[in-house]
Amino acid sequence: MLSVAEARSRIIARLQPVAAETLDLAAAAGRILAQPVFAPHALPPFANSAMDGYAVCAADVAAASAAAPVTLRVIEDIGAGQIPKSTLSAGTVARITTGALLPAGADAVIPVEWTGTDLPQSAQFCPPSIRVAQPLEPGRFIRAAGSDVPQASLALPAGARLSAAAVGLLAALGIGRVAVASRVRVAVLSTGNELVPLGAPLTAGKIHNSNSYTLAALIQEAGGTAIDLGIVPDSVAAVELRLADAVQQGAQLIVSSAGVSMGNLDVVRQTLEKTQRVEFWQVNMRPGKPVLFGAHNGVPFLGLPGNPVSAIIAFELFARPALLHMSGCAQWERPAVMARVAADMQSDGRETYVRARVELDEHSGELSARASGGQDSHMLGAMASANALLIIPAGVKSVRAGELLKAWLLPS
Ligand code: AMP
Ligand code: MG
Repeated sequence: MLSVAEARSRIIARLQPVAAETLDLAAAAGRILAQPVFAPHALPPFANSAMDGYAVCAADVAAASAAAPVTLRVIEDIGAGQIPKSTLSAGTVARITTGALLPAGADAVIPVEWTGTDLPQSAQFCPPSIRVAQPLEPGRFIRAAGSDVPQASLALPAGARLSAAAVGLLAALGIGRVAVASRVRVAVLSTGNELVPLGAPLTAGKIHNSNSYTLAALIQEAGGTAIDLGIVPDSVAAVELRLADAVQQGAQLIVSSAGVSMGNLDVVRQTLEKTQRVEFWQVNMRPGKPVLFGAHNGVPFLGLPGNPVSAIIAFELFARPALLHMSGCAQWERPAVMARVAADMQSDGRETYVRARVELDEHSGELSARASGGQDSHMLGAMASANALLIIPAGVKSVRAGELLKAWLLPS
């Protein structure tokens, strides 16, 4: 049976990147950069003070000590945004605020906390002189121009996700419009005669359609736009009609839930098989084995299993990487850690994704992992309380308490 990694490579090989669009920076948070950004100017753009204090020439305080403090004359008061008027000469300093341009002749800043004066210091009153009782090396408490980002250097690579800090970095560089991947349009259809929409009463044998909601949330988290095609009855004709809708609505990826396993109502598989557009069916994983990948009218199609946890894990392993890949982001893996399992765990030899809680064990200083609840593939409760997926590799059937396993950290 196909391995998870092989299945993912086969999916990725079939995907086309989506087009880019240019957005105002304020609307670009969470999006993926379509082009690299090179710094149009350095950050900081000019050498400035890292502290509220006094710009000084370090040589003037080289001999300062508690026994022999040095007195320096304050010749100017420089606020952030002002241009210094004077040049420091021997024995003089300029009061300066954090972020202010350094005056000529200064090569260090003495923090205000290091200075003694008998006079009160305030925004209104600048003391005529200060006393300094310790030396400092040249460059101290100065933020050199370009020390964060040199001019013309790569500030962010193409494919980077615009975190809050990345958005801030672009703003600091004066970049107000940014080319990002457009959101991938993902059609979601949930098949099953047992499904009823939210708001409808649960009659005998029926369940609420939860997968459409889960999948829409996962799509959103992965940066896509979900097109909800609702509940589809278990018939090939109904699935075909709804797939036509998906194509008509411009879906760039179609994701379905249920109807891909061995039952006689597994109409999603039957529908795709009719047009011979099944690329693969079944992957050596647990949960989620019946996952199917193919295409419908040229649109990549991922048939997820119906069991709610299987659908989530298969989405994690295939749909999320697909979405990110189509958006130009190669980094699809969740942040990973190694965690020590707190109790024995079993697998059947498939690559197994254990819904788990990973916590810092304050005593040992290590990460400890335990199952977050029952591991049956319908148990959404245990999935909802998990903060990680522990990965038992293919071929491993038992893991002893105390062994280390890789864990993907899930967003909370
Ligand atoms: P199937 O893949 O059709 O055999 O479905 C497997 C299990 O998932 C069954 O217990 C279904 O009732 C359940 N299931 C299928 N679709 C959904 C859905 N949209 N929401 C919640 N559970 C579902
Ligand atoms: Mg079914």
